[in-house]
Amino acid sequence: MTRVKQRASLTDTIRENLLRRAETVRLAKMSLARPDQPAPQTDFSTLPGYDELRLYERIGEKLGLGNPYFRLHDGRAGAETKIDGRALTNFASYDYLGLNAHPEITAAAHAAIDRYGVSSSASRCVAGERPVHLQLERAIAEHYGVEDSLVLVSGYSTNVSVIGQIVGPNDLVVLDSVIHNSAVMGSVLSGANRRGFLHNDLENLDSLLSETRHRFERVLIVVEGHYSMDGDYPDLPKLVDIKKRHGAWLMVDEAHALGVLGPRGGGIAEHFGVEPREIDLWMGTLSKTLAACGGYIAGSAELIRYLKNFAGAFAYSVAMPPAIAAAAAKALEILHREPERVARLQHNAALFARLAKERGLDLGTGAGTAIAPIIIGDSLPAVMLSEVLFERGINVMPVLHPAVPAKQARLRFFLTAAHAEHDIVRALDETVACLSGVRERMKEIDVGG
Ligand code: PMP
Repeated sequence: MTRVKQRASLTDTIRENLLRRAETVRLAKMSLARPDQPAPQTDFSTLPGYDELRLYERIGEKLGLGNPYFRLHDGRAGAETKIDGRALTNFASYDYLGLNAHPEITAAAHAAIDRYGVSSSASRCVAGERPVHLQLERAIAEHYGVEDSLVLVSGYSTNVSVIGQIVGPNDLVVLDSVIHNSAVMGSVLSGANRRGFLHNDLENLDSLLSETRHRFERVLIVVEGHYSMDGDYPDLPKLVDIKKRHGAWLMVDEAHALGVLGPRGGGIAEHFGVEPREIDLWMGTLSKTLAACGGYIAGSAELIRYLKNFAGAFAYSVAMPPAIAAAAAKALEILHREPERVARLQHNAALFARLAKERGLDLGTGAGTAIAPIIIGDSLPAVMLSEVLFERGINVMPVLHPAVPAKQARLRFFLTAAHAEHDIVRALDETVACLSGVRERMKEIDVGG
């Protein structure tokens, strides 16, 4: 028996043992529990998903696979990074325009620290405003040509808190089926009725609204401007038409669209030549193109006034640290001043897509943008491929079920303006070479099972 086969049968034994043990515990709990009284639990390891987590860790250990997540970087991670003293080409950071640690941005952050200190200490309504917050909000509003904007300390909590606040039990939230988890959690928090439509299928959205719109007071449609798992984007002009016909609000999450789509990186509205004021809520993050941290909402003055007073993650949470606000404002200024960075990013993204297709790799629905998925299928070969590429100096993360649909596990490459063409060619050549090795290994594992 080969080593791989031994490993595979070991894996199955572990999996069987673990599942058998979990089943025994479940049955024991059931026999203790009365139907009207759940068995009391104080052990965190009984939380849903814990058994599965342990199972995957044990399988990884037995197959000799390292954990691809939570890697310790020695310094700044951009198009290149250093992990354990080893230089790697990095496709796992969202630094789309190569702005992280740009000297003007770090200087702006240092100056803000020198003037205001590190922390904002409390919420803006309690601890007062700092000019850097207001400057950043003005710049974001101007970017979209809308009346106002507000910034919060996290992109994730922006979606949770804003969606959680503006709709309620008499309302409906309609989400693209692959929308980011933060939007889903916001709609759960809101208590509104929730419906999903098929990914980027706007006919499906339209007919869903034709059937259901009359039952609700407010309707909020939530989409991403550039989908973080798939690298595709919705037809914005069609969405604007649909939301107008059905009397709904349209919220566009631009986390991965700002600086990435549109000839000058203006985002999805610029890409389609849509008037940004047609969109009711622009949402975005400062952590990706703008190389800082936090979230924003841009829209009408009424919307922003309302959120400043009622969105919990703004009203009851600390203001963004002044250094972060100053850094994001400087990054936005550089985005506007240096559109050549956007052109380089788009060139790299198109090159990656073209070369990947030529090599027979499956980009899924990826549209040749800065997010480039290479669909592998099962989770295990995706993890194995990421590991082999890591050994060969390429850092790219696998994305596994349930973050993506079953059998759609992938490697997700983030292209940046700072990647060189030879980085892209080498990454794809290595991917093709290593993928066939991984597929061979998988065959042996299957036989061994
Ligand atoms: N929206 C989308 C589409 C995202 O991909 C992310 C995070 N990657 C967020 C919101 C949350 O943003 P942040 O990481 O800045 O909190």
